[in-house]
Amino acid sequence: MIGREAGGPGRRASPPCYHRRIMTGITLEGVSKRFGSTAAAAGVSLGIDSGELFFLLGPSGCGKTTLLRILAGFVEADAGRIAFEGQDVTHLAPEKRRTGMVFQNYALWPHMTVFDNVAFGLKVRRVSGKERQERVMAALRAARMQEYARRMPNQLSGGQQQRVALARALVVEPRVLLLDEPLSNLDARLRSQMRGEIRRLCRESGITTVYVTHDQAEALSMADRVAVMREGRIVQVGRPRDVYQRPENRFVADFLGETNFISAEVKGAEEGHLILHAPMGDVLARGLREDTPRSGNLTCSIRPEAWRFDAAGRDPARNAWTGRLVESIYQGESSRHRIELAGDVVIHALEINPRERRPGEAVRVSVDPADVVVLAD
Ligand code: ATP
Repeated sequence: MIGREAGGPGRRASPPCYHRRIMTGITLEGVSKRFGSTAAAAGVSLGIDSGELFFLLGPSGCGKTTLLRILAGFVEADAGRIAFEGQDVTHLAPEKRRTGMVFQNYALWPHMTVFDNVAFGLKVRRVSGKERQERVMAALRAARMQEYARRMPNQLSGGQQQRVALARALVVEPRVLLLDEPLSNLDARLRSQMRGEIRRLCRESGITTVYVTHDQAEALSMADRVAVMREGRIVQVGRPRDVYQRPENRFVADFLGETNFISAEVKGAEEGHLILHAPMGDVLARGLREDTPRSGNLTCSIRPEAWRFDAAGRDPARNAWTGRLVESIYQGESSRHRIELAGDVVIHALEINPRERRPGEAVRVSVDPADVVVLAD
């Protein structure tokens, strides 16, 4: 599969510039799709900004790929509306949507050189001669693969093949780039290198990009914004920092990284903060949202890295507890501890630049009220 664009011969005086911004926002309104009894998309409404690198993140089977395929036009939604920069594309054929797609398995043609793989989409669009040559080389340069134009795909590493797949999607200048788990076949080192490369390419081209992954580290390190999905629905949209540090519900807090859930009851509410009664004692929480409950029983989430290990004499007055170290795993730059606090609360805590500690010893921990996240459910 290659980038898809409306047909017709291209006319161009100068080679393409991949720094050009092509402004295309995406709007989804009430998009739904069922497969038998499974709701793969259940009334998804979403706005994606022009030039944004937008991630769909969620566990296997939550409907990410279905949504991407609906955007590409490979799957037709049962209900809802999709617009690219105001143009309704809901019923438009895939080849008329001008989307470029990159798949997990690269899908390069094994019998064609790198150059011919990238040139194919232009050939189909009857772009020929000097212009085709220039556009292919510009796309290969953008993907840093210009030295490999004459190679066959089987003479390339996985990372290099993925760069060619990106060049092939970009060469037709799609207005929307769709990436379906593009790094999942690469080893860890290449994956992290390609994260930077894809981000750079998206930035430089300015193409609105939708990127599907179940890998939270990939989403958090690359995205402008992330939509977290669950069972066909979007449960939170925000910048990586927002979804990780201010999850709005238990699912997002749990899916993104590790956390400690602590049940508590509201004792008092004041402007901007809550005093909670938890089994280990009172907990102060700040940074509340409008929909944060101001009374009753609730759950709060505290990330392992949010716990501070306080030296004697620097003990904060609030949100500090003494516990007993149950278990400790030394990892070099950090230690992972399991600590039992009063009221049978056992927390996981991460200590950076760790002191040597032994199971059974008393440890004093505290948490900044801004790092106590009160969940709506
Ligand atoms: P993964 O990360 O495993 O690829 P995903 O989040 O991309 O998962 P989808 O592939 O969109 O999830 O699938 C969503 C749900 O729809 C799943 O339960 C899946 O089994 C179902 N589904 C997807 N495509 C079809 C199909 N063509 N026929 C029947 N069911 C389907």
